[in-house]
Amino acid sequence: MPPLARYMLAGIFLVLGGLMLVWRKGPNCWIGVRTPWTFADRDIWDKSWLMATFLLFGMGLGALWSMPLFVVSLVALIVLGILYPLFLYYRKYGTWRYWKDIGWSAYRPAVRCTRCGHIQRLKDADELAMAHCQSCGASLWR
Ligand SMILES: [Zn+2]
Repeated sequence: MPPLARYMLAGIFLVLGGLMLVWRKGPNCWIGVRTPWTFADRDIWDKSWLMATFLLFGMGLGALWSMPLFVVSLVALIVLGILYPLFLYYRKYGTWRYWKDIGWSAYRPAVRCTRCGHIQRLKDADELAMAHCQSCGASLWR
């Protein structure tokens, strides 16, 4: 690749990575790891945002110094952009289910009871700490 193209690529991803590092915007319609699982939980949104930030830096530095690093970071960004929020979500809620309220980004979490397997809707991520299973009464906090 010609040097100018590499510098331009590096510039795009380093600026975007830098912006995401200092800005840390909440769920919105155009930037960030936008999946139902990140929209449903602000903590997972933030963690996924940080992961994407590092991989954007990887792409920027890779464009400057090493194309394999660029490609690895790009593939990681696409694959982990989906898998990482899924992993965090499943670990926290015991399911990949979510539900959709009114509004384009109004995804809400659901949680699986570890005792009886009942899946219950939560109005938001904060409710998890206090919620009890409607079926067996067990605490849903894990
Ligand atoms: Zn239960």
